[in-house]
Amino acid sequence: MFDKRSYTLYKFHKQLNQSFQNKRELLECALQALRDLFRLDRVYFFDWQQERAILSLKMMCKKEYCMDMQEDISVANEPVFLRQLLQKGVAETTDLSYPALYVLIRWQRPSVELKSGEVRSITREKVGVLRLERFRKRRVFTPGEIDLIQDLGREISHNLYNTEVDQAKNQRLNMSTALNDLSTIFASSLRLNDGLELILKGVQRYFHFDRVHLYLTNSEGTRIKSVLGVDISGTVTHESGASLRDEEKQILKEVFDSSATYRAIRSVIYLPLKLQRTKVGFLTFDNILSRRKIGYLDFISLQQFASQMALTIDNARLFERVQELSNYDELTKLPVRRYFNEKFAEELYRAKRFGLSLSLVIMDIDFFKQINDKHGHQIGDWALKAVSKIIRSSLRQTDVPCRFGGDEMIIMLPRTNAEEAKVIARRLQERIHDITLPDRASVEPEHLSISQGVSTYPADGATADELLEKADQALYVVKQNGRGSFAVYREVADQVPQEVKKSKTVAAAEKPAATQSAHPAELSPESSDKPVSLP
Ligand code: GH3
Ligand code: MG
Repeated sequence: MFDKRSYTLYKFHKQLNQSFQNKRELLECALQALRDLFRLDRVYFFDWQQERAILSLKMMCKKEYCMDMQEDISVANEPVFLRQLLQKGVAETTDLSYPALYVLIRWQRPSVELKSGEVRSITREKVGVLRLERFRKRRVFTPGEIDLIQDLGREISHNLYNTEVDQAKNQRLNMSTALNDLSTIFASSLRLNDGLELILKGVQRYFHFDRVHLYLTNSEGTRIKSVLGVDISGTVTHESGASLRDEEKQILKEVFDSSATYRAIRSVIYLPLKLQRTKVGFLTFDNILSRRKIGYLDFISLQQFASQMALTIDNARLFERVQELSNYDELTKLPVRRYFNEKFAEELYRAKRFGLSLSLVIMDIDFFKQINDKHGHQIGDWALKAVSKIIRSSLRQTDVPCRFGGDEMIIMLPRTNAEEAKVIARRLQERIHDITLPDRASVEPEHLSISQGVSTYPADGATADELLEKADQALYVVKQNGRGSFAVYREVADQVPQEVKKSKTVAAAEKPAATQSAHPAELSPESSDKPVSLP
């Protein structure tokens, strides 16, 4: 008997000694082994929810098969039975016509606890119950069998603990892989908002949260700039500049001031995104709708992710700001040549593709050197700013002005023919003429004068270079004819000297790489502009 018992224990131990993916797999193996060892007709496994006095049926195995089951059975009215089961770890039913035995199984499980707003990782004791039935031959369970079954129960407990820990570890590994994938997507997204949207969707999907929100704050963490959210259906919402109620301001302060890496406030988990000195925002997760528990491993993973995310958002913000700044000239606040070239190539491509016209105006301030010399560089700068202001306020949204060089501006006018371009050139000329230099030393008010040359696609050229060249040649003619006016290339082409036509003009000689191609996809990002420093 002794040998047989040891051998049974050994065999059972070997059977369970494999790595199960989850509790379900382990139970399936254990219940089948018990069924065969004790010639059971049926064997059940229940989770015991002690506080609710409920046995939740999870699995049943009989001779032919095992199946997952879901049924809650109240045991609130059976105090004697429960006491016996808890005290002895085993109980026999008396109310059935066949032998049935209940065996208690206890094991530890990693879990999470929310206490006064803090999330703590803990282990919880779980309790399960086996129910073994012999109803065909109605053989009773002998004391030796009951003893052996209890020993095997302990073996199951031990394996349940190991499986839960393994499962948690695997879950964590999967999560790191998922977060790694997400970070890669994030890093490769061209625009910050696209990246953030993908991240939130990914986090919501991988972690199965009901809702995930990202609040981006100012660097002091006192104001919310925008809110991006993903709900249970994967729908993305976007709000900007939400104003906060006092209560929300308090939450914000708590989230940032707390030394904890996350806070739980009314079933919502707040995960601050902050760098050493800068606050980036915070993430919120909730399962308010589904009322599912949030696992503690989720926090550990998300916490690691949060610092990475804070850094990436901060970098991306800086990058976008630099991008934005580097597209504009500091003095005039007009786009710079590189930006203009990109837009020009795009618009020209569109004009060709859809048979639209497009005009180009090159403008140069007359006798600007003299203005500098006579009134000083500061007044010169002032004049440049005043001219740019007129340009910016006289154009349509779709027109693209640019500071091309010292006192030279270019304006691209999409969907504009030569006649329409002339109207704009005249308007600019008049408005700029109204500017008087603010020099108190001058007796007479001194007006600004400009000269402009216009070229139009398709009449004057098919490429960006050709159009720039033609507009520049028209400008040359205006300057030659006394300045203070404008001309369309077609109308003054015969006045362009042969040597000007042949030689590369300013615009063509400084050939911006991007304008050589008419297709935006072939644009070169090379810039000839000086680097812009952040304020
Ligand atoms: P023209 O009528 O032929 O155009 O004569 P101009 O004197 O305007 O000659 P040009 O266009 O060649 O001169 C441009 C001058 O603009 C030369 C340069 O000193 C001045 N300049 C270039 N950039 C700036 C700037 O940022 N601020 C100021 N104040 N002057 C500038
Ligand atoms: Mg000039």
